[in-house]
Amino acid sequence: MNHNLYLQFLPHFEHQPDKCLIDTLDGKRYRYADVLATSQRLASVLFELGVQPGDRVAVQVDKSPQVVMLYLACLQVGAVYLPLNTGYTEAEIEYFLSDAEPQLYVCTPAQLAQAQSYSQRGLVVEVESLGTQEDGSLMERAESAQPTTDVAQLEGKDLAAILYTSGTTGRAKGAMLSHANLASNSRSLVEAWRYTADDHLLHALPIFHTHGLFVACNVTLTAGASMTFMPRLDIDALLERMPKATVLMGVPTFYTRLLQSPRLDHDVVRNMRLFVSGSAPLLAETHEDFQARTGHAILERYGMTETNMNTSNPYDGARRPGTVGMPLPGVEVRITDRESGAELSQGETGLVEVRGPNVFQGYWRMPEKTRSEFRDDGFFITGDLGCIDDQGYLNIVGRDKDLVISGGYNVYPKEVEQLIDELPGVLESAVIGVPHPDLGEGVTAVVVPQGNNTLNEQDIIASLEGQLARYKQPRRVFFIDSLPRNVMGKVQKNQLRDRYADIYQ
Ligand code: ATP
Ligand code: MG
Repeated sequence: MNHNLYLQFLPHFEHQPDKCLIDTLDGKRYRYADVLATSQRLASVLFELGVQPGDRVAVQVDKSPQVVMLYLACLQVGAVYLPLNTGYTEAEIEYFLSDAEPQLYVCTPAQLAQAQSYSQRGLVVEVESLGTQEDGSLMERAESAQPTTDVAQLEGKDLAAILYTSGTTGRAKGAMLSHANLASNSRSLVEAWRYTADDHLLHALPIFHTHGLFVACNVTLTAGASMTFMPRLDIDALLERMPKATVLMGVPTFYTRLLQSPRLDHDVVRNMRLFVSGSAPLLAETHEDFQARTGHAILERYGMTETNMNTSNPYDGARRPGTVGMPLPGVEVRITDRESGAELSQGETGLVEVRGPNVFQGYWRMPEKTRSEFRDDGFFITGDLGCIDDQGYLNIVGRDKDLVISGGYNVYPKEVEQLIDELPGVLESAVIGVPHPDLGEGVTAVVVPQGNNTLNEQDIIASLEGQLARYKQPRRVFFIDSLPRNVMGKVQKNQLRDRYADIYQ
Protein backbone atom coordinates (compact mmCIF):
# COMPACT_ATOMS: atom_id res chain seq x y z
CA MET A 1 0.00 0.00 0.00
CA ASN A 2 1.15 3.54 -0.74
CA HIS A 3 0.77 5.85 2.28
CA ASN A 4 1.39 9.06 0.35
CA LEU A 5 -0.95 11.78 1.66
CA TYR A 6 -1.42 12.88 -1.95
CA LEU A 7 -3.58 9.80 -2.54
CA GLN A 8 -6.02 11.00 0.14
CA PHE A 9 -6.73 14.05 -2.05
CA LEU A 10 -6.44 12.56 -5.54
CA PRO A 11 -9.93 11.00 -5.86
CA HIS A 12 -11.57 14.43 -5.61
CA PHE A 13 -9.42 15.70 -8.47
CA GLU A 14 -10.56 12.76 -10.56
CA HIS A 15 -14.26 12.78 -9.62
CA GLN A 16 -15.02 16.50 -9.66
CA PRO A 17 -12.59 18.05 -12.18
CA ASP A 18 -14.86 20.98 -13.02
CA LYS A 19 -15.57 22.06 -9.49
CA CYS A 20 -13.77 25.23 -8.36
CA LEU A 21 -11.21 24.41 -5.64
CA ILE A 22 -9.68 27.86 -5.03
CA ASP A 23 -10.90 31.31 -5.98
CA THR A 24 -9.25 34.61 -5.18
CA LEU A 25 -10.34 38.15 -4.39
CA ASP A 26 -9.10 39.35 -7.77
CA GLY A 27 -11.54 37.02 -9.54
CA LYS A 28 -9.36 34.06 -10.46
CA ARG A 29 -10.92 30.60 -10.26
CA TYR A 30 -8.96 27.35 -10.20
CA ARG A 31 -10.95 24.19 -10.79
CA TYR A 32 -9.80 20.87 -9.36
CA ALA A 33 -8.65 19.97 -12.89
CA ASP A 34 -6.59 23.17 -13.18
CA VAL A 35 -4.89 22.62 -9.84
CA LEU A 36 -4.14 19.01 -10.74
CA ALA A 37 -2.70 19.87 -14.16
CA THR A 38 -0.40 22.58 -12.79
CA SER A 39 0.73 20.50 -9.84
CA GLN A 40 1.53 17.60 -12.18
CA ARG A 41 3.64 19.95 -14.30
CA LEU A 42 5.34 21.26 -11.20
CA ALA A 43 6.07 17.66 -10.19
CA SER A 44 7.95 17.27 -13.50
CA VAL A 45 9.84 20.47 -12.82
CA LEU A 46 10.86 19.13 -9.42
CA PHE A 47 12.29 16.02 -11.13
CA GLU A 48 14.17 18.23 -13.61
CA LEU A 49 15.64 20.17 -10.71
CA GLY A 50 16.96 16.97 -9.18
CA VAL A 51 14.50 16.80 -6.29
CA GLN A 52 14.44 13.21 -4.99
CA PRO A 53 12.11 11.65 -2.42
CA GLY A 54 13.19 12.89 1.02
CA ASP A 55 14.84 16.06 -0.35
CA ARG A 56 13.70 19.30 1.22
CA VAL A 57 12.01 21.99 -0.87
CA ALA A 58 12.14 25.25 1.09
CA VAL A 59 9.56 27.84 0.14
CA GLN A 60 9.41 31.46 1.25
CA VAL A 61 6.86 33.18 -0.95
CA ASP A 62 3.70 35.25 -0.63
CA LYS A 63 0.41 33.41 -0.40
CA SER A 64 -1.21 32.40 -3.67
CA PRO A 65 -3.07 29.35 -5.07
CA GLN A 66 0.16 28.35 -6.86
CA VAL A 67 1.75 27.68 -3.47
CA VAL A 68 -0.87 24.99 -2.87
CA MET A 69 -0.04 23.52 -6.29
CA LEU A 70 3.64 23.46 -5.36
CA TYR A 71 2.82 21.80 -2.03
CA LEU A 72 0.81 19.12 -3.88
CA ALA A 73 3.69 18.58 -6.32
CA CYS A 74 6.08 18.07 -3.41
CA LEU A 75 3.77 15.46 -1.88
CA GLN A 76 3.37 13.76 -5.24
CA VAL A 77 7.14 13.32 -5.75
CA GLY A 78 7.83 12.51 -2.10
CA ALA A 79 9.79 15.70 -1.40
CA VAL A 80 9.67 17.26 2.07
CA TYR A 81 7.79 20.56 1.90
CA LEU A 82 9.38 23.21 4.07
CA PRO A 83 7.51 26.51 4.17
CA LEU A 84 9.12 29.56 5.77
CA ASN A 85 7.46 32.56 7.38
CA THR A 86 7.42 35.43 4.90
CA GLY A 87 8.47 37.76 7.72
CA TYR A 88 11.86 36.11 8.21
CA THR A 89 14.85 38.31 7.54
CA GLU A 90 17.82 37.39 5.39
CA ALA A 91 19.88 36.29 8.38
CA GLU A 92 17.06 34.05 9.59
CA ILE A 93 16.61 32.55 6.12
CA GLU A 94 20.31 31.74 5.99
CA TYR A 95 20.01 29.94 9.31
CA PHE A 96 16.99 27.91 8.15
CA LEU A 97 18.60 27.00 4.83
CA SER A 98 21.84 25.90 6.45
CA ASP A 99 19.79 23.86 8.93
CA ALA A 100 17.50 22.24 6.35
CA GLU A 101 19.93 21.87 3.40
CA PRO A 102 17.21 21.96 0.75
CA GLN A 103 17.73 20.77 -2.79
CA LEU A 104 15.49 23.60 -3.99
CA TYR A 105 14.70 27.01 -2.53
CA VAL A 106 11.69 28.85 -3.93
CA CYS A 107 11.63 32.58 -3.20
CA THR A 108 9.70 35.63 -4.42
CA PRO A 109 10.72 37.13 -7.78
CA ALA A 110 12.04 40.18 -5.91
CA GLN A 111 14.42 38.06 -3.84
CA LEU A 112 15.77 35.98 -6.70
CA ALA A 113 19.12 37.74 -7.07
CA GLN A 114 19.83 37.54 -3.36
CA ALA A 115 18.73 33.90 -3.26
CA GLN A 116 21.09 32.98 -6.08
CA SER A 117 23.96 33.93 -3.78
CA TYR A 118 22.71 31.24 -1.36
CA SER A 119 23.23 28.68 -4.06
CA GLN A 120 26.70 30.04 -4.89
CA ARG A 121 27.57 29.68 -1.20
CA GLY A 122 26.32 26.10 -1.14
CA LEU A 123 23.33 26.69 1.20
CA VAL A 124 20.95 25.30 -1.42
CA VAL A 125 21.40 23.58 -4.76
CA GLU A 126 18.69 25.07 -6.97
CA VAL A 127 16.84 28.38 -6.69
CA GLU A 128 13.58 29.32 -8.41
CA SER A 129 11.06 32.12 -7.90
CA LEU A 130 7.29 32.17 -7.55
CA GLY A 131 5.15 35.31 -7.61
CA THR A 132 1.52 35.91 -6.70
CA GLN A 133 0.41 36.57 -10.31
CA GLU A 134 1.22 33.15 -11.75
CA ASP A 135 4.67 34.61 -12.44
CA GLY A 136 8.23 33.68 -11.55
CA SER A 137 10.77 31.25 -12.97
CA LEU A 138 9.09 28.18 -11.49
CA MET A 139 5.81 28.83 -13.33
CA GLU A 140 7.74 29.57 -16.53
CA ARG A 141 9.38 26.18 -16.30
CA ALA A 142 6.02 24.56 -15.51
CA GLU A 143 4.44 25.97 -18.66
CA SER A 144 6.77 24.03 -20.89
CA ALA A 145 6.92 20.90 -18.71
CA GLN A 146 5.02 17.68 -19.44
CA PRO A 147 2.66 16.76 -16.61
CA THR A 148 3.56 13.59 -14.73
CA THR A 149 1.10 11.31 -12.96
CA ASP A 150 3.76 9.30 -11.11
CA VAL A 151 3.16 9.29 -7.37
CA ALA A 152 6.05 8.43 -5.04
CA GLN A 153 5.57 5.16 -3.20
CA LEU A 154 5.89 5.99 0.51
CA GLU A 155 5.46 4.61 3.98
CA GLY A 156 3.34 6.35 6.58
CA LYS A 157 6.39 7.43 8.56
CA ASP A 158 8.10 9.10 5.57
CA LEU A 159 8.31 12.86 5.93
CA ALA A 160 5.81 15.08 4.16
CA ALA A 161 6.93 18.36 5.69
CA ILE A 162 9.25 20.11 8.05
CA LEU A 163 7.44 22.96 9.68
CA TYR A 164 9.23 25.41 11.93
CA THR A 165 7.46 26.30 15.18
CA SER A 166 6.44 29.91 15.67
CA GLY A 167 9.46 30.73 17.81
CA THR A 168 7.30 32.17 20.60
CA THR A 169 9.49 30.73 23.36
CA GLY A 170 12.90 30.72 21.65
CA ARG A 171 14.48 29.85 18.34
CA ALA A 172 12.03 28.11 16.00
CA LYS A 173 12.45 24.32 15.83
CA GLY A 174 11.87 22.21 12.72
CA ALA A 175 9.08 19.71 13.39
CA MET A 176 9.26 16.62 11.15
CA LEU A 177 5.75 15.64 10.07
CA SER A 178 5.05 12.37 8.31
CA HIS A 179 2.47 11.54 5.67
CA ALA A 180 0.59 9.48 8.28
CA ASN A 181 0.66 12.37 10.78
CA LEU A 182 -0.98 14.75 8.31
CA ALA A 183 -3.34 12.24 6.74
CA SER A 184 -4.76 11.01 10.04
CA ASN A 185 -5.21 14.48 11.48
CA SER A 186 -7.05 15.89 8.49
CA ARG A 187 -9.35 12.84 8.46
CA SER A 188 -10.07 13.34 12.17
CA LEU A 189 -10.89 17.00 11.64
CA VAL A 190 -13.17 16.27 8.68
CA GLU A 191 -15.05 13.85 10.89
CA ALA A 192 -15.08 16.01 14.02
CA TRP A 193 -16.20 19.15 12.19
CA ARG A 194 -18.62 17.35 9.79
CA TYR A 195 -16.73 18.68 6.80
CA THR A 196 -18.18 17.82 3.37
CA ALA A 197 -17.60 18.65 -0.29
CA ASP A 198 -20.34 21.30 0.04
CA ASP A 199 -18.23 23.38 2.41
CA HIS A 200 -16.66 26.63 1.31
CA LEU A 201 -13.90 28.00 3.52
CA LEU A 202 -12.82 31.62 3.88
CA HIS A 203 -9.03 31.28 3.99
CA ALA A 204 -7.36 34.42 5.32
CA LEU A 205 -4.55 32.75 7.31
CA PRO A 206 -0.92 32.55 6.24
CA ILE A 207 -0.02 29.24 4.59
CA PHE A 208 3.43 28.78 6.08
CA HIS A 209 1.93 27.75 9.44
CA THR A 210 0.13 24.58 10.54
CA HIS A 211 -3.22 26.36 10.92
CA GLY A 212 -3.48 27.78 7.38
CA LEU A 213 -1.68 24.92 5.65
CA PHE A 214 -2.51 21.66 7.38
CA VAL A 215 -5.76 22.48 9.14
CA ALA A 216 -7.29 24.67 6.45
CA CYS A 217 -5.89 23.27 3.18
CA ASN A 218 -5.59 19.58 4.11
CA VAL A 219 -9.12 19.50 5.50
CA THR A 220 -10.46 21.18 2.34
CA LEU A 221 -8.56 18.74 0.11
CA THR A 222 -9.55 15.70 2.18
CA ALA A 223 -13.24 16.64 2.02
CA GLY A 224 -13.18 17.72 -1.63
CA ALA A 225 -14.44 21.16 -0.57
CA SER A 226 -13.52 24.63 -1.83
CA MET A 227 -12.00 27.85 -0.50
CA THR A 228 -11.53 31.55 -1.16
CA PHE A 229 -7.91 32.60 -0.74
CA MET A 230 -7.27 36.03 0.73
CA PRO A 231 -3.72 37.33 0.94
CA ARG A 232 -4.23 38.53 4.50
CA LEU A 233 -6.92 39.39 7.01
CA ASP A 234 -9.15 42.04 5.46
CA ILE A 235 -12.36 42.37 7.47
CA ASP A 236 -14.34 44.06 4.69
CA ALA A 237 -13.38 41.40 2.14
CA LEU A 238 -14.18 38.70 4.66
CA LEU A 239 -17.66 40.10 5.32
CA GLU A 240 -18.20 40.60 1.60
CA ARG A 241 -17.61 36.91 0.92
CA MET A 242 -19.24 35.54 4.07
CA PRO A 243 -22.81 35.16 2.71
CA LYS A 244 -21.55 32.56 0.22
CA ALA A 245 -19.25 30.70 2.60
CA THR A 246 -19.86 28.00 5.21
CA VAL A 247 -16.67 27.96 7.34
CA LEU A 248 -14.12 30.41 8.70
CA MET A 249 -10.90 29.36 10.42
CA GLY A 250 -9.14 32.12 12.28
CA VAL A 251 -6.91 33.15 15.13
CA PRO A 252 -8.59 35.08 17.96
CA THR A 253 -7.69 38.42 16.38
CA PHE A 254 -10.00 37.57 13.45
CA TYR A 255 -12.93 37.45 15.86
CA THR A 256 -12.08 40.56 17.86
CA ARG A 257 -11.65 42.46 14.59
CA LEU A 258 -14.91 41.10 13.15
CA LEU A 259 -16.71 42.23 16.30
CA GLN A 260 -15.46 45.76 15.70
CA SER A 261 -17.32 45.89 12.39
CA PRO A 262 -20.94 47.10 12.44
CA ARG A 263 -21.54 44.86 9.41
CA LEU A 264 -21.27 41.69 11.50
CA ASP A 265 -24.82 40.49 12.13
CA HIS A 266 -27.14 37.50 11.78
CA ASP A 267 -27.76 38.22 8.12
CA VAL A 268 -24.14 38.20 6.95
CA VAL A 269 -23.55 34.78 8.59
CA ARG A 270 -26.79 33.25 7.27
CA ASN A 271 -25.01 30.58 5.23
CA MET A 272 -22.18 29.93 7.70
CA ARG A 273 -22.18 26.74 9.72
CA LEU A 274 -18.82 26.86 11.53
CA PHE A 275 -16.39 29.39 12.98
CA VAL A 276 -13.14 27.85 14.23
CA SER A 277 -10.56 29.56 16.44
CA GLY A 278 -7.09 28.44 17.44
CA SER A 279 -3.33 29.13 17.63
CA ALA A 280 -3.78 31.36 20.67
CA PRO A 281 -6.31 31.54 23.51
CA LEU A 282 -9.71 32.99 22.66
CA LEU A 283 -11.06 35.19 25.42
CA ALA A 284 -14.33 33.89 26.86
CA GLU A 285 -15.68 37.41 26.40
CA THR A 286 -14.99 37.30 22.64
CA HIS A 287 -16.78 33.95 22.45
CA GLU A 288 -19.82 35.37 24.25
CA ASP A 289 -19.94 38.64 22.29
CA PHE A 290 -19.68 36.73 19.01
CA GLN A 291 -22.53 34.43 19.98
CA ALA A 292 -24.69 37.40 20.96
CA ARG A 293 -24.03 39.15 17.64
CA THR A 294 -24.31 36.20 15.25
CA GLY A 295 -25.94 33.29 17.06
CA HIS A 296 -22.78 31.21 16.44
CA ALA A 297 -20.69 29.65 19.21
CA ILE A 298 -17.07 29.80 18.01
CA LEU A 299 -15.50 26.34 18.08
CA GLU A 300 -12.10 26.57 19.78
CA ARG A 301 -9.51 23.87 19.21
CA TYR A 302 -5.95 23.33 20.38
CA GLY A 303 -2.94 22.18 18.46
CA MET A 304 0.66 22.90 17.75
CA THR A 305 3.18 22.57 14.94
CA GLU A 306 4.56 19.34 16.42
CA THR A 307 1.23 17.57 16.84
CA ASN A 308 -1.26 19.04 14.40
CA MET A 309 -4.57 19.34 16.26
CA ASN A 310 -5.02 17.60 19.60
CA THR A 311 -8.37 18.64 20.98
CA SER A 312 -11.50 20.33 19.77
CA ASN A 313 -14.72 21.58 21.28
CA PRO A 314 -17.58 19.41 20.07
CA TYR A 315 -19.46 20.07 16.86
CA ASP A 316 -22.64 18.85 18.51
CA GLY A 317 -22.80 19.62 22.18
CA ALA A 318 -21.61 22.48 24.31
CA ARG A 319 -18.68 24.58 23.07
CA ARG A 320 -17.36 25.89 26.33
CA PRO A 321 -15.75 29.33 26.29
CA GLY A 322 -12.23 29.33 27.71
CA THR A 323 -11.72 25.61 27.02
CA VAL A 324 -10.21 23.81 24.04
CA GLY A 325 -12.52 20.80 24.18
CA MET A 326 -11.86 17.08 24.14
CA PRO A 327 -9.21 14.91 22.44
CA LEU A 328 -9.82 14.25 18.74
CA PRO A 329 -10.46 10.63 17.72
CA GLY A 330 -7.29 8.57 18.24
CA VAL A 331 -5.54 11.25 20.34
CA GLU A 332 -4.78 10.68 24.02
CA VAL A 333 -4.27 13.60 26.40
CA ARG A 334 -3.01 13.38 29.97
CA ILE A 335 -1.88 15.86 32.60
CA THR A 336 1.32 15.26 34.55
CA ASP A 337 3.18 16.83 37.42
CA ARG A 338 5.75 19.39 36.19
CA GLU A 339 8.40 18.03 38.52
CA SER A 340 7.83 14.31 39.02
CA GLY A 341 6.12 13.56 35.70
CA ALA A 342 3.49 11.51 37.56
CA GLU A 343 0.01 11.51 36.06
CA LEU A 344 -2.36 13.88 37.84
CA SER A 345 -6.05 13.44 38.53
CA GLN A 346 -8.93 15.21 36.90
CA GLY A 347 -9.05 18.86 37.94
CA GLU A 348 -5.34 19.15 38.79
CA THR A 349 -3.11 21.46 36.76
CA GLY A 350 0.09 20.26 35.16
CA LEU A 351 1.87 19.55 31.89
CA VAL A 352 -0.29 18.65 28.93
CA GLU A 353 1.03 15.50 27.22
CA VAL A 354 -0.32 13.95 24.03
CA ARG A 355 0.07 10.69 22.16
CA GLY A 356 -1.44 9.57 18.88
CA PRO A 357 -0.99 9.23 15.14
CA ASN A 358 -0.87 13.05 14.92
CA VAL A 359 2.35 13.40 16.94
CA PHE A 360 5.44 14.33 14.93
CA GLN A 361 8.58 12.31 14.22
CA GLY A 362 10.92 14.56 16.20
CA TYR A 363 12.78 17.84 15.75
CA TRP A 364 14.89 18.06 12.63
CA ARG A 365 18.54 17.50 13.52
CA MET A 366 17.88 17.93 17.26
CA PRO A 367 17.94 14.36 18.61
CA GLU A 368 18.65 15.47 22.20
CA LYS A 369 15.80 17.93 22.22
CA THR A 370 13.51 15.28 20.71
CA ARG A 371 14.47 12.77 23.39
CA SER A 372 13.89 15.19 26.21
CA GLU A 373 10.38 16.09 25.02
CA PHE A 374 9.10 12.50 24.80
CA ARG A 375 8.26 10.11 27.64
CA ASP A 376 9.30 6.47 27.36
CA ASP A 377 5.70 5.45 26.65
CA GLY A 378 5.50 7.72 23.61
CA PHE A 379 3.70 10.72 25.11
CA PHE A 380 4.93 14.10 23.86
CA ILE A 381 5.34 16.86 26.44
CA THR A 382 3.68 19.83 24.80
CA GLY A 383 5.14 22.52 27.05
CA ASP A 384 1.63 23.80 27.78
CA LEU A 385 0.00 23.68 31.19
CA GLY A 386 -3.59 22.70 31.62
CA CYS A 387 -6.23 20.76 33.49
CA ILE A 388 -9.18 18.63 32.50
CA ASP A 389 -12.53 19.59 33.97
CA ASP A 390 -15.25 17.26 35.28
CA GLN A 391 -16.80 16.99 31.83
CA GLY A 392 -13.55 16.12 30.07
CA TYR A 393 -12.85 19.54 28.54
CA LEU A 394 -9.21 20.62 28.46
CA ASN A 395 -8.38 24.03 29.80
CA ILE A 396 -5.01 25.53 28.77
CA VAL A 397 -3.72 27.81 31.51
CA GLY A 398 -0.53 28.96 29.80
CA ARG A 399 2.85 27.71 28.75
CA ASP A 400 5.18 26.01 31.17
CA LYS A 401 7.81 28.61 30.24
CA ASP A 402 5.36 31.39 31.17
CA LEU A 403 4.52 29.93 34.57
CA VAL A 404 5.37 32.45 37.27
CA ILE A 405 7.06 31.07 40.37
CA SER A 406 6.81 33.67 43.10
CA GLY A 407 8.10 32.97 46.60
CA GLY A 408 8.14 29.27 45.73
CA TYR A 409 4.47 29.21 44.69
CA ASN A 410 3.19 28.53 41.18
CA VAL A 411 1.07 31.27 39.68
CA TYR A 412 -0.79 30.34 36.49
CA PRO A 413 -0.99 33.53 34.42
CA LYS A 414 -4.41 32.79 32.95
CA GLU A 415 -6.09 32.75 36.36
CA VAL A 416 -4.87 36.28 37.08
CA GLU A 417 -5.41 37.52 33.52
CA GLN A 418 -9.04 36.38 33.55
CA LEU A 419 -9.80 38.38 36.69
CA ILE A 420 -8.05 41.49 35.37
CA ASP A 421 -9.85 41.20 32.02
CA GLU A 422 -13.20 41.29 33.82
CA LEU A 423 -12.43 44.64 35.48
CA PRO A 424 -14.25 47.64 34.00
CA GLY A 425 -12.18 49.55 31.47
CA VAL A 426 -9.81 46.66 30.73
CA LEU A 427 -9.51 45.31 27.19
CA GLU A 428 -6.97 42.58 27.84
CA SER A 429 -3.92 41.74 29.90
CA ALA A 430 -0.80 39.61 30.11
CA VAL A 431 0.67 38.40 33.39
CA ILE A 432 4.38 37.65 33.47
CA GLY A 433 7.08 36.78 35.96
CA VAL A 434 9.87 39.31 36.32
CA PRO A 435 13.08 38.74 38.35
CA HIS A 436 12.53 39.87 41.95
CA PRO A 437 15.23 39.97 44.64
CA ASP A 438 13.11 38.36 47.40
CA LEU A 439 10.50 36.36 45.55
CA GLY A 440 12.52 34.94 42.67
CA GLU A 441 9.87 36.27 40.33
CA GLY A 442 7.38 39.02 40.92
CA VAL A 443 3.90 38.66 39.45
CA THR A 444 3.56 41.54 37.00
CA ALA A 445 0.51 42.55 35.00
CA VAL A 446 0.62 44.36 31.69
CA VAL A 447 -2.80 45.81 30.94
CA VAL A 448 -4.38 47.26 27.80
CA PRO A 449 -7.15 49.75 28.65
CA GLN A 450 -10.36 49.65 26.65
CA GLY A 451 -10.81 52.75 24.47
CA ASN A 452 -9.88 55.93 26.28
CA ASN A 453 -10.29 54.59 29.79
CA THR A 454 -7.66 55.69 32.23
CA LEU A 455 -6.82 53.02 34.72
CA ASN A 456 -4.80 53.19 37.86
CA GLU A 457 -2.27 50.68 39.14
CA GLN A 458 -3.42 50.79 42.77
CA ASP A 459 -7.10 50.36 41.84
CA ILE A 460 -6.33 47.23 39.86
CA ILE A 461 -4.25 45.74 42.65
CA ALA A 462 -6.98 46.63 45.17
CA SER A 463 -9.74 45.03 43.06
CA LEU A 464 -7.87 41.74 43.03
CA GLU A 465 -7.31 41.65 46.77
CA GLY A 466 -10.45 39.81 47.78
CA GLN A 467 -10.29 37.48 44.80
CA LEU A 468 -6.79 36.07 44.72
CA ALA A 469 -4.37 34.69 47.31
CA ARG A 470 -1.72 37.26 48.20
CA TYR A 471 1.07 35.44 46.33
CA LYS A 472 -0.93 35.56 43.09
CA GLN A 473 -1.63 39.27 43.22
CA PRO A 474 0.44 41.42 40.89
CA ARG A 475 3.18 43.43 42.60
CA ARG A 476 3.16 45.93 39.77
CA VAL A 477 0.76 46.82 36.97
CA PHE A 478 1.84 48.52 33.76
CA PHE A 479 -0.31 49.99 31.00
CA ILE A 480 0.37 49.56 27.33
CA ASP A 481 -1.54 50.40 24.11
CA SER A 482 -1.48 46.87 22.73
CA LEU A 483 0.16 43.57 23.57
CA PRO A 484 3.04 42.53 21.28
CA ARG A 485 1.72 39.74 19.04
CA ASN A 486 3.14 37.74 16.16
CA VAL A 487 1.34 37.07 12.90
CA MET A 488 -0.54 34.12 14.44
CA GLY A 489 -1.92 36.38 17.17
CA LYS A 490 0.32 34.91 19.87
CA VAL A 491 1.30 37.26 22.68
CA GLN A 492 5.08 37.59 22.78
CA LYS A 493 5.60 37.31 26.53
CA ASN A 494 9.39 37.11 25.99
CA GLN A 495 9.30 40.68 24.75
CA LEU A 496 7.28 41.80 27.76
CA ARG A 497 9.67 40.06 30.16
CA ASP A 498 12.62 41.83 28.50
CA ARG A 499 10.88 45.16 28.60
CA TYR A 500 10.11 45.00 32.34
CA ALA A 501 13.22 43.02 33.35
CA ASP A 502 14.64 45.66 35.71
CA ILE A 503 11.57 46.88 37.57
CA TYR A 504 12.22 45.10 40.86
CA GLN A 505 15.99 45.61 40.87
P1 ATP B 1 7.65 27.82 19.84
O1 ATP B 1 7.34 26.37 20.06
O2 ATP B 1 8.69 28.01 18.80
O3 ATP B 1 7.93 28.55 21.09
P2 ATP B 1 4.80 28.18 19.40
O4 ATP B 1 4.63 27.13 20.45
O5 ATP B 1 4.03 29.44 19.56
O6 ATP B 1 6.34 28.53 19.22
P3 ATP B 1 3.16 26.88 17.42
O7 ATP B 1 3.43 25.45 17.22
O8 ATP B 1 2.75 27.70 16.27
O9 ATP B 1 4.46 27.55 17.99
O10 ATP B 1 2.04 27.09 18.52
C1 ATP B 1 1.57 26.07 19.37
C2 ATP B 1 1.17 26.67 20.69
O11 ATP B 1 0.09 27.61 20.50
C3 ATP B 1 0.63 25.67 21.66
O12 ATP B 1 1.66 24.96 22.31
C4 ATP B 1 -0.18 26.56 22.60
O13 ATP B 1 0.67 27.20 23.56
C5 ATP B 1 -0.72 27.63 21.66
N1 ATP B 1 -2.13 27.36 21.28
C6 ATP B 1 -2.62 26.84 20.14
N2 ATP B 1 -3.96 26.78 20.17
C7 ATP B 1 -4.33 27.29 21.36
C8 ATP B 1 -5.58 27.53 22.01
N3 ATP B 1 -6.73 27.25 21.41
N4 ATP B 1 -5.56 28.06 23.25
C9 ATP B 1 -4.41 28.35 23.86
N5 ATP B 1 -3.20 28.18 23.32
C10 ATP B 1 -3.17 27.65 22.08
MG1 MG C 1 5.74 25.44 20.85
